[in-house]
Formats: sequence, structure tokens, C-alpha cells
Amino acid sequence: MRSVLLDCPPDKWGDLFSRQSLPKFRFNQIASWIFKKGETDWSKMHNLSRELQSFFELETTLRLPEVVESLPATDGTVKLVLRLHDGQMIESVIIPRGDRATLCLSSQVGCAIGCRFCRTAEMGLIRNLTLGEILGQMIVANRFLEASPIRDLLAPDDSAAIPLFRINHVVFMGMGEPLANLDNLIEAIQVMTSPGGFALSPRRITVSTSGLPSRIGELGRTGLCVNLAVSLTAADDETREKLMPINRHYPIQTILDACRNLPLKKRQRVTFEYVLLSGVNDRPEDARKLSRLLAPFRSKVNLIPFNPYEGSPFKRPSHEDVLAFQRILLDKSVVATIRKSRGADVLGACGQLAWEKKKEQKESQWNPVVFST
Ligand code: SAH
Ligand code: SF4
Repeated sequence: MRSVLLDCPPDKWGDLFSRQSLPKFRFNQIASWIFKKGETDWSKMHNLSRELQSFFELETTLRLPEVVESLPATDGTVKLVLRLHDGQMIESVIIPRGDRATLCLSSQVGCAIGCRFCRTAEMGLIRNLTLGEILGQMIVANRFLEASPIRDLLAPDDSAAIPLFRINHVVFMGMGEPLANLDNLIEAIQVMTSPGGFALSPRRITVSTSGLPSRIGELGRTGLCVNLAVSLTAADDETREKLMPINRHYPIQTILDACRNLPLKKRQRVTFEYVLLSGVNDRPEDARKLSRLLAPFRSKVNLIPFNPYEGSPFKRPSHEDVLAFQRILLDKSVVATIRKSRGADVLGACGQLAWEKKKEQKESQWNPVVFST
């Protein structure tokens, strides 16, 4: 059977083809074609002999997710709708910001965690993404940028609005719970950070999780030193249980304990994401409770005004309420930012497009609502 090359970590390619006893530099050449140049056509890898090209052609499958659609938003953000080999759909979002090109990646098709305010939750978990499917999103996004560089159309000054040719930041905030697909996540981060792979600094990679304490510990012990973002969204267990049923298994303190034990680099902080839901968790007393919870912590809070969708009982708070919530945190010396609701958030934050496609509601242009912090 042909092996799916990208589902195997590049440092194990030698074992995969051990009978050929190829020298290590051959695999480095192949990795460079795939990860640096985005090339998946063996016949174009001209520093490999014809013989080797046809060997790999015959023995391997080098498939990438297929871009079904690319949807640009008016702020420069582009959402890529991707079809996997078995027909499942995922999405990745490229977010330009000044000289940053951030890729928001999916880690699963659907999600099993069941957060009440999240559209992906309605899909349930369909399956984990393979290593190749996670890496494939990077390759496809880089190819896209190379062919049509994008820029931040909302950059405050022209100098920041430079065209971006390559992904230089990664956030695991697309569809799925990345820590529920931990082995593939870790291997993907290893390729992303290795000099022979995408050569990204781990400080430019953020993993967002609903908070699985033992998995947070495992990720910490890998020593990969990526940034961690924990979706807290409530400052007490009672409220959190209603919004994120997973809290019954892993209450807030168990998550905070796991975060406290993380080996953080100098100036590195854990981010706590807090989806603001009008009248549910956005009152001044919630902000005060949150500040008490996090004050002893080296952390920062990212406030995300709820992104409404059809059928959801929740409402997005007013901009004034969001600012008032932030003010309370800042007054208590808790670093708090408001996530700008850019194109990425309008339909991209949480698997909303794949879901809409299922319902056959197609949109070709989507407009971000812009918030200032
Ligand atoms: N499963 C991971 C990562 C994907 S979700 C996690 O939950 O952290 C990425 C972020 O989007 C999370 O912080 C989540 O709370 C937030 N989110 C989910 N649905 C949202 C919605 N409708 N509006 C705003 N943010 C949402
Ligand atoms: Fe899953 Fe994250 Fe959505 Fe919760 S918010 S259901 S963990 S994708």
C-alpha cells in the first residue's frame, strides 16, 4: 500500500523507506521541496534522480487538502474552505495584520467538547485530523499567499499594509479541540518549528484549548514552548458548567493548576480567552470575579465578544459593555485586550462555514464588524 507521506513525521521518513537505504540528505531535500516551496509534484523536484522521482511517485501519496473556495473579507482576511480526501470539509483562515500573516488552523473535523456558544459543537466530533492534514493546511495557505499575496486592509498606516507572502504565525483556533488530538498536534508543531520544516519560532504558535488539564501538562512537558490560550469564558464553576459542560470533569481550579505548572519562558504568559455573552457572563461582578481569579497569575485575558449565529440563544454584548468589562480588569492590573472582530471572527472563529455549507447557505463575500480596543 502507498504510504501517505505527510502523515509520517519527516524524521521517520528514513524508517518508512529503510529498504532503499537512502542517505539522510535526500529526505532533507524532499522536506525542503514540500515545506519550504510547497511542491508536491515529484517530477518537479529536479535535484532527485528520475528513478527516485518515480519510486516516490509509485510508493507514496502526497496529497493536500483541496481548496474548494477562498473567501476574502473586506479587511484582507481570507478564509480557505478545504475538502479532505474523504470528502470532509474544514477551514483555515489567513489573517493579515501589519507584517503578520497568521494562519488559524483546524485540528479536528467537528468537536466533541460541546460548548453551548459554539457552532462547531453542533457538528459533534467527526474525526481527528491527521498530521498530514494539519501540515497540509500550512502548505496550502503558503501556496495561496505566494500566488496572491494579501495585505491588512485595515492597517492604520500605509507602511504597515505590506503584501504578505508566507505564513509567519499560527493559531490553533479553527475547528476542533487541539489537545484532544495531542499526538498529531505535537508532531505538527515539531515540523512547524524545525529548521527543515516551516522554521517558525515556537513563540509564534498558539494552541487554544477548552482546558484539558492532563493534556496541558503533557504539552508543557514536550518542552516545545508554544503559547497556550485557555478558553475560560466564566469566572466560576457554576456559570462555566452551563456554558462548557466539560467543566464538570475539569473544574476551573484544576485547569489553573495545570497552567501554573507550565514551564513558561521569560515574559511568556498564559492567555485566557473569555467569550462575552450578553447578560450571562459580562456583568461587572463577573469581571471582578475574573480579576480575583487571575490576579495572582502571570496571564493575560483576551475578551471575545460573542459571534452570533442563527439558532443560538446568546447575544453579543454592546461595545460599551465590552469596554466596561475590560476597564474593570485593567483597573485590577489584569492585562486584558479585546479581540478585534475581524473577518476571521465573523465566520471563521469556529467552523461556521463548514456548517453553513452543509445547510447550503453560500456566501461569497463576508464583512467584518470592526471593533477598536
Ligand atoms: N477548541 C479550542 C479552539 C477552537 S475555538 C478552544 O475552545 O479553545 C477558538 C475560540 O473561539 C475559543 O476561545 C472559543 O471559546 C471561541 N468561540 C467559539 N464559539 C464562539 C462564538 N460563537 N463567538 C466567539 N467566540 C467563539
Ligand atoms: Fe470545541 Fe472549542 Fe467549539 Fe468548545 S469552543 S466546542 S472546545 S471548538
